[in-house]
Amino acid sequence: MGSMSGSEATMRFRVARVLDGDGRSVTPDAVVVVEDGRIVDIRPASTEPADSVVPLGDATLIPGLLDLHVHLNMRGDGRPIEDIQDVSDGVLALRSYAGAAAYLRSGVTTVLDLGSRNATTLDLGTAIEEGTLVGPTVLSSGSPLTRTGGHMWLMNGEVDGADGIRKAVRERSKAGASAIKLVATGGATRGTSWFQPSFTADELRAAVDEAHALGLPVAAHCTSIAGLEQAVRAGVDLLVHAFFYEPDGTYRFRPDLADAIAASGASVNPTLHTVESRIAEARRISSRRPLDTVERRQLEADLRGLDERREMASRLLDHEVPLVVGSDGGFTQVRHGIGTVREMKALAEVGLSPAQAIAAATGNAAAVLRQPTDLGRVRPGAPADFVVLDGDPGRGLEALDDVLVVVKAGRVVHRRDDRAAGVGGVGTGPGA
Ligand SMILES: [Zn+2]
Repeated sequence: MGSMSGSEATMRFRVARVLDGDGRSVTPDAVVVVEDGRIVDIRPASTEPADSVVPLGDATLIPGLLDLHVHLNMRGDGRPIEDIQDVSDGVLALRSYAGAAAYLRSGVTTVLDLGSRNATTLDLGTAIEEGTLVGPTVLSSGSPLTRTGGHMWLMNGEVDGADGIRKAVRERSKAGASAIKLVATGGATRGTSWFQPSFTADELRAAVDEAHALGLPVAAHCTSIAGLEQAVRAGVDLLVHAFFYEPDGTYRFRPDLADAIAASGASVNPTLHTVESRIAEARRISSRRPLDTVERRQLEADLRGLDERREMASRLLDHEVPLVVGSDGGFTQVRHGIGTVREMKALAEVGLSPAQAIAAATGNAAAVLRQPTDLGRVRPGAPADFVVLDGDPGRGLEALDDVLVVVKAGRVVHRRDDRAAGVGGVGTGPGA
């Protein structure tokens, strides 16, 4: 609970425990002190004068969640990517803001947009950073790099040849991108195939070399073994989807490739919840009417695909490949704001402990960004981006559904009505 008196710039939160984003450290019965947008101290509650701060009870303070994979231009309403073709950049930017704002309520204080059109989400990130809009930190790759006609070409990132790719990476760095997105295989865009690599090995290597020279991490969309092998050899930082599919679409886990991923230092975002979201939607429809043939086949394919992806993710863990959280929010049926926690729960189901699942959406996710910051951590000097949960998420991730307070850059941006209503000393928006 925030300090009920004193300077508006200082807040104190007394919680039963602080869980840091490293997946290990727990500080019991602590007071977290926030000043001017940063955490300045974490001290034992016993050293705090009795009436200086109202205890929040059996509450846990964790770092603000970081979703490494969203598409804010899209709405998670099942419409295909082709839907954005007739929408102006202005509307896409406004849609993106509505999507971004939804993340805060679930405790997501940073999102990385891995594919949007032109500068729509780069501009949104700037507007939030300058305080014009209240939202999570929006980091963005800008338009995703794809070969001419490749998956996501509608976002205007078509590029060919190593020289072309180098220039495109430099342009994104100049425009303020926080990461480079490479579309290394086909995907859901009409006319592309999941099972075919999109770029040559030279093109991928040029992209990664140039991005790393500019201090930017590289995320690669890969939905087949061939694409994965290329991306791992090129040295990408984040493998998005990372599906082990043969050219004919057969699932086959390849232990040697898993070892190569682990050795490369890349993290994997297995996007388990995207399939779950489609299955849930099919079940909603079938509770109202019988599914037609196409829908039934899709549901069968998704049920099989979910089993395969779960098996793959659990075996990647056996090979010590770090799994990180990205909801793919905006694509298929993944609504903005709810997918992040669902992906964390999906990762827990395949083998992460609750604390590890939290690290996968905080400290370990931040490590992928190659930024020398304390993002995703709760420690003195770190940005005051955190969430207070009712309960102990270390015992079970259901506590993530009980958000009491969300603090972004030292400001309360969301609070649950009852117990958190007394949080004092701060407002809920800019200028408060
Ligand atoms: Zn995606």
